Amino acid sequence: MTTGEAWQEVGDRVFVRRHASLDLNCGLVVGDDACLVIDTRLHLGEAADLIGAVRRITPHPWTVVNTHAHWDHCFGNAAFRPAEIWGHVTAAADLAASGGLQRAAAVQLARDTGRDDVADRIQSAPIDPPDRLVKEHVELTVGDRMIDLRFVGRGHTGGDLVVEIDCGSEGSVLFAGDLVEEGNPPGFDDSYPFDWAATLGRVHGLARGPVVPGHGAVVDVDFVSNQRAELLAVEQLIRQTLADSPDSAVFTGPLPDQSPYDEQTTRVAVQRGWLQACG
Ligand SMILES: [Zn+2]
Repeated sequence: MTTGEAWQEVGDRVFVRRHASLDLNCGLVVGDDACLVIDTRLHLGEAADLIGAVRRITPHPWTVVNTHAHWDHCFGNAAFRPAEIWGHVTAAADLAASGGLQRAAAVQLARDTGRDDVADRIQSAPIDPPDRLVKEHVELTVGDRMIDLRFVGRGHTGGDLVVEIDCGSEGSVLFAGDLVEEGNPPGFDDSYPFDWAATLGRVHGLARGPVVPGHGAVVDVDFVSNQRAELLAVEQLIRQTLADSPDSAVFTGPLPDQSPYDEQTTRVAVQRGWLQACG
């Protein structure tokens, strides 16, 4: 079952819905005659469930934003049309280019873990990239509210957006997508390890209240600071492997043992770092 998850109000009319499915967070910002939905889940069935949950909060028409181009955050997009869907220009291009490959991998993962119904749903999800594009910064009007969509550097992917919602005297709420990850190590598969810590430094600079990660529990600025320190450690570790193997084009190990993350996560991070350094 994917129904039944409750919204948590983390700021003035700013809601987070944390799903059992992939521990994914989606957001809802309610204005006086419009609303904004942040990320759309991983297939049309989950998107329909999210739409039902939105409608329990507000009857207003929605605009949508995708934090980044990964399937679990945007394969539900088509269910929200004909609304505008915002995303970073690189995310839109990446989704158009890699959506089919992402879908095949996600379907395989679902089948391998015995979830054929989920696999079938993902298989039939349309690839529907954002059509309203952000390069650096867009100020979005949602009813009576102004919402900032910002690109603050590469990190988890090449096109992660941070959604900043001003809550007046309460500060703000930041939706950070998978730039911030709670409960699991960050995902490095499409990452830019030499940029990510600096990008999180900018996220840290923006934070004036709750920070909503792409997955897991809502966190705060100190969590962002800690994750930034971990990413700096990973960056150092990658530099060490590059210094230790100056003549090689592809990292083959062994890994230094001081990583803050598990071996598989660290290996992917190092491989991505080598691609970034050598590419
Ligand atoms: Zn992601």
